[in-house]
Amino acid sequence: METRLLKGIAVRDIVFADLKEKVAAAPRRPGLAVLLVGDDPASAVYVRHKGKGCDTVGYHHVTHELPADTPQFRVIELIETLNADDAIDGILVQLPLPAGLDEEAVLLAVDPHKDVDGFHPENLGRLVAGHPRFVPCTPKGILRMLAHYDLPTAGRNVAVVGRSVIVGRPMALLLSLKGAMGDATVTLCHSRTRDLAGTTSRADIVIAAMGVPRFLGAEHIAAGAVVVDVGINRIADPTHPKGTRLVGDVDAAAVKGRAAALTPVPGGVGPMTIAMLLENTWEAMVAREGLDGGV
Ligand code: NDP
Repeated sequence: METRLLKGIAVRDIVFADLKEKVAAAPRRPGLAVLLVGDDPASAVYVRHKGKGCDTVGYHHVTHELPADTPQFRVIELIETLNADDAIDGILVQLPLPAGLDEEAVLLAVDPHKDVDGFHPENLGRLVAGHPRFVPCTPKGILRMLAHYDLPTAGRNVAVVGRSVIVGRPMALLLSLKGAMGDATVTLCHSRTRDLAGTTSRADIVIAAMGVPRFLGAEHIAAGAVVVDVGINRIADPTHPKGTRLVGDVDAAAVKGRAAALTPVPGGVGPMTIAMLLENTWEAMVAREGLDGGV
């Protein structure tokens, strides 16, 4: 079977073009503030990509870089300043935070109306209740990509591997909601799941968000299944000019020819995450300005 590659970059470009057009006709530019605490190199790369995305669609954006030893009250003070800043519609705290900072307390400080990552308990609660405000960007991007490639979830068995609050858990919740791109029968797997391969190999759609390089192989995937690889893992590769390269949580070589469709790493889910962040920021601006179509 030929495995179709589901390219996130192509879908991201459609989202960007749509946002760019809307921004050009808007009363003002949406504004995104990013907080980067510490010097995690991967986080710095993600933040740069987010800034580039803002430039592409014409958003106002600021990045606040704070040293790893910044006391918690300083981080919260900055968030409170951004909460009160009218030019800022979305606030993103780049995770993970350095040890010593209480992630829950920091996320709680973000105004839920500016919480474009959707991690504030109020927004997560709304998601559980079935009327989301801001949907976490990675799961939202995955559903958008599946819809774009005409891969419905209704009635399908979906195995989500990984239960983080950022990816796996909101993914499982969204898939279980009633309506378009929901209505799935969901199994949420994690490190304590017994017989992972037995579970995932019965699924029509497998969503891998574990952070373990190339863990899922042919034995985990049914012939004809759709595979979404969320993982972004840097591994050593002496044949690569940089000495490292990015791989997903799925062994793409083992699954190609067996799965009906697969998202590549890089170029699959990653670009969609940024597209949905900018879409959520647009929605925040529209809601704050009381324009039509706000959340
Ligand atoms: P976390 O480390 O927070 O969560 C990993 C999850 O995977 C946990 O629930 C863990 O189980 C589960 N898990 C780990 N090992 C196994 C195993 N052997 N079998 C079954 N389950 C396992 O990771 P994140 O959710 O933050 O990220 C996951 C991956 O996705 C990472 O590679 C990350 O870089 C990537 N990512 C990509 C994004 C994108 O835009 N493409 C955005 C966000 C993340 P347990 O809970 O039991 O410990």
